[in-house]
Amino acid sequence: MEKICVAVRVRPSISEEISSGTYWRVDDNGISLHKIQGTPISGISYSFDHVFDESCSNAKVYELLTKDIIHAAVDGFNGTAFAYGQTSSGKTFTMNGSSTDPGIIHRAVNDIFHKIQTISDREFLIRVSYMEIYNEEINDLFTVENQKLQIHESLERGIFVAGLREEIVNNVEQVMNLLQSGEVNRHFGETNMNARSSRSHTIFRMVIESKGKDASSFGDYSSSDAIRVSVLNLVDLAGSERIAKTGAGGVRLKEGKYINKSLMVLGNVINKLSDGAKQRAHIPYRDSKLTRILQPALGGNAKTSIICTVAPEEVHVEETKGTLLFASRAKRITNCAQVNEILTDAALLKRQKLEIEELRRKLQGSHAEVLEQEILKLRNDMLKYELERDKLEMELEEERRLHKEREQRIIDQQMKIENLSSLVSDGDRSSSQGSTKESPKEECNDRGDDFKTPCFKAAPNAFVAKRSNYSELPDFSPLPDSFSNVADEDTWFKMNKGYIADLDSLQTTPARKVQSFPPQDVTPVCSNKNDKQELQNLKRQLELVIEEKNEIQRKHAEQIQLNDRLMGELTELKQEALFVRKMPQRLCESVVSCKDIYEDVLSKMQSSASDGKSSTAKFLLGTSEIGTTLFSTLEAHFAMAMNGHNSSSGNDSLFQECNKMLSETLKSTITSLILSETAGAEDDQANAPLCSCNFKGCTQGGETACWKEKLSNELNSVREKYENLEKELDLSTKFLEASKERYGSLEREFQVLKQERDSLLKTVSESSHKLTLLNDQKENVLMDLNTEVKRRKDLEEEIKHFSVAFASRQRSLMSIHGEFKSKIEKLRAENPVSVQKSLPH
Ligand code: ADP
Ligand code: MG
Repeated sequence: MEKICVAVRVRPSISEEISSGTYWRVDDNGISLHKIQGTPISGISYSFDHVFDESCSNAKVYELLTKDIIHAAVDGFNGTAFAYGQTSSGKTFTMNGSSTDPGIIHRAVNDIFHKIQTISDREFLIRVSYMEIYNEEINDLFTVENQKLQIHESLERGIFVAGLREEIVNNVEQVMNLLQSGEVNRHFGETNMNARSSRSHTIFRMVIESKGKDASSFGDYSSSDAIRVSVLNLVDLAGSERIAKTGAGGVRLKEGKYINKSLMVLGNVINKLSDGAKQRAHIPYRDSKLTRILQPALGGNAKTSIICTVAPEEVHVEETKGTLLFASRAKRITNCAQVNEILTDAALLKRQKLEIEELRRKLQGSHAEVLEQEILKLRNDMLKYELERDKLEMELEEERRLHKEREQRIIDQQMKIENLSSLVSDGDRSSSQGSTKESPKEECNDRGDDFKTPCFKAAPNAFVAKRSNYSELPDFSPLPDSFSNVADEDTWFKMNKGYIADLDSLQTTPARKVQSFPPQDVTPVCSNKNDKQELQNLKRQLELVIEEKNEIQRKHAEQIQLNDRLMGELTELKQEALFVRKMPQRLCESVVSCKDIYEDVLSKMQSSASDGKSSTAKFLLGTSEIGTTLFSTLEAHFAMAMNGHNSSSGNDSLFQECNKMLSETLKSTITSLILSETAGAEDDQANAPLCSCNFKGCTQGGETACWKEKLSNELNSVREKYENLEKELDLSTKFLEASKERYGSLEREFQVLKQERDSLLKTVSESSHKLTLLNDQKENVLMDLNTEVKRRKDLEEEIKHFSVAFASRQRSLMSIHGEFKSKIEKLRAENPVSVQKSLPH
């Protein structure tokens, strides 16, 4: 806890007038009012931290009063230096100085840059801003356009002026140039520079951020982990004199009122703060912009100094007394400055460890004083946390509000976009209706289905729709009396939830002859019309493309269905083909088994007719050969079919030839066999004595015949089987052929469809590309339209300003005219002859 440092500075006397009653005497750090004879006037004697007499330079003031604060600011403490006093007491001289004796601001800037160069282990970032509070409005002195800025509060930044330009600076020259440009901006458009400067407060602000360069310093929490941010305010206050003395009236009175408000609240705040801790329940910081901005400097976290400048002249004695009273109150204020650090988690941990160590050490000592200090500190911390919590709550509230606003804005924007499209279609409709224009009420009923609140009765009476740029201006226009109750198109739009009224049909107020708007309004109207036309065209194109796209998509879906069906058929056919392909194999297998059986039967028969020379054996051998050949041929044939060789007609004929040949061979074998048998029988009969038994020969002949018959039967059945198989094979082959053909045609069809699908896909992608292009174009047009609307609004705003200015000019002209007239009258009355001569009618 430390007291605010307060000093009084008496400027050299300006007037030649010699005091006749009283004078101010400065002794060491005291100032007292004395009678001219030298006797002090009781009760009017004050002492301060410093009292500077007339001869004191800015250098000394800086050295003794402000230097420590500036150095502390570099170390991370907030700092504020005020200059308080009546107009012409030397506030600006103290803060800005002269070319030979620079003021506090110049010296502070110099000192800061000099000091940060000597600190090698930290890196600094310095930002400056310069503002003015005039008529309770905050204006940015770096940017003329930044006027009427608002004060905000956030956890990170504390209390700050939103939108204020902050410049990052690297050297003294940069700051000085900025200050100079700020001064130029301050007097921009001012006729009386002194009047304004004595009625406004200026705050030059420096934000000093620093961070340790060395990351390795172990154990030191304030090293590279923490960022220090301190704010330094150098304030030149408005003149503290009362309005009565200035004798201001009119506009000046208004200014005076505001200046008094700011200074009055400053006085209140200082009074409350100086009353001591008991009465410090509520400090009215929020009552003025000045106290709100300087809140941390007054009873908060800052090192503060106030220099109260006084004028020594006897005429100013009352003001000087007032200033000294203010100063003595301010002297009692205590602040609690501390280094502002933003800590990272690691730094916080280190710091807490150190704090615990410190507490432990203190506990061991257990001094009551220390404990008391600790309690105080804890209480302070608690208060701080409470404050922070309040801030957080406020921020949350603000954030919620902003969020809501944003959402609303998004909804509005969406509605606007949607309705812009409907505006085009509405435009089309209305143009097609053209000649048969209906009254607004009827129109409203017509559109009842499309919009929720289309009725004019729903719109508040307080608003009158302003003419849009889409319609031409007639000579007579229902110009409203005041612009405050005029809803622009956006507001109208919102009020009517998207309904667009035909503004030309809204001439409900009586026509009044007025000065028409400047002709440059015509150009935006034309361009707006063109835009509208273009928008309509684009919209139509868009619709066409969308239709085309839909058609293509429908076709595409149909093709896909067809494709699916064909694919299903194809798989069925493939299965069938597989089945047919497997058939020869199965036939082959059955042929092989038949062959085995046949061979088996024949071998058995051969073994029974063991005599190889006998005719039966011969016949069997022949049959066996024939059968084997037959089966082998069949096997080969099937194998060929299985391997995918088509049993072409050539092959078939070959096969049939072979078959014929075999049958012939068989027949000839049988005939030869019969012949040989008959010959044998005749021989047997002729050579009967040679034969051992006739009966045997007889029996042998019957057996052979029986065998022959059996064999021929078997052969026939085999042949039949073979023929059947051959037929079946033929059938399968034909079926396979047909399937293959169908498969081929299907495949071709599939290829064609695929190609078609590809081309369709290409068209679709082209269309969507076109669509995006069109969308882009549409957006561009919309943007253009928006800028046009904005331009129109700006123009309207300008016109508004112009008409207000014009009205005030006219009023002042009228008053001058009146004055002039009355003066002429007066002159005429006083000097009738000469006036009449000089002013002929
Ligand atoms: P304020 O800003 O309080 O209205 P100024 O700083 O403009 O007053 O001072 C008014 C005049 O007095 C200026 O011309 C200034 O140069 C002069 N003046 C003020 N204080 C001093 C001083 N200590 N030494 C020399 N001249 C001073
Ligand atoms: Mg001044």
